[in-house]
Amino acid sequence: MTRALILGGTADANLLAERIARAGLDAVYSYGGRTRTPADQPLPTRTGGFGGAGGLADYLRREGITHVIDATHPFAAEMSRHAVAACTETGTPLIALERAPWVKAPGDNWIEVADIMSAVAALPDKPTRVFLAIGRQHIAPFSTSPQHTYTLRFVDPPEEALPLPGANVIVSRGPFTFDGELELMRSRAIEWIVARNSGGTGARAKIDAARALGLPVILLSRPQLPDRPRVESVAEVMDWLGHRTCLGA
Ligand code: NAP
Repeated sequence: MTRALILGGTADANLLAERIARAGLDAVYSYGGRTRTPADQPLPTRTGGFGGAGGLADYLRREGITHVIDATHPFAAEMSRHAVAACTETGTPLIALERAPWVKAPGDNWIEVADIMSAVAALPDKPTRVFLAIGRQHIAPFSTSPQHTYTLRFVDPPEEALPLPGANVIVSRGPFTFDGELELMRSRAIEWIVARNSGGTGARAKIDAARALGLPVILLSRPQLPDRPRVESVAEVMDWLGHRTCLGA
């Protein structure tokens, strides 16, 4: 009997949950607990960390999980590393559902960097207006460059004071449209964008809008992860689970 665990928190994970529920498979959807108002799922959900790789291994055994699908965000590297370790330890089949990174197109003005500190260093010294399209937990290093005017966008309103005191905060949940991103960048006179190479279509609009406006993008490359089987579509995960669909994804 199949009993799958989806490590979720992404649009792809949500789509997969829908397909798995429709196929009548037994599965659990796991949220990391970062968002206060997560999307409803058509599957039983659980929320919060497992307590490291060991905690996840215990969970897999206790819950009789037969398949793990790591559909977390490509930058949720700790969770992905723990999934590899726990599945290796327990002998549980693992697959990653992960969109390919974006590839530079003509007109893109990207500065690709490996980490946040390099992103901070890549900004100009003179004061500029920056759209910081990265997770809340990664903004603190930009406080070392307080001369810039930062625009931040979060899913939930911040509960605590931000490490960037003068920042403009937008509370909004994606996916975002090209026109919407164009409007945001124009109305706030954005000059630089800092983003992560998330891949997929949901977060792509800001990259396309930056190209249309000729704005430079400091783009964080994906973290290095251990080797693991990886697919890019929900349909491929359904195949892997032995439930071929003709719906595509
Ligand atoms: P992370 O740094 O890789 O994870 C930190 C810890 O949070 C993990 O070690 C794990 O705790 C727990 N965790 C993360 N994802 C979990 C999940 N799906 N289920 C249960 N526990 C989870 O991850 P993150 O970057 O903070 O992302 C957290 C969640 O937000 C993920 O589900 C991810 O898909 C979603 N998300 C992240 C981003 C992003 O930009 N990083 C963007 C969109 C959505 P334990 O070690 O205690 O098990």
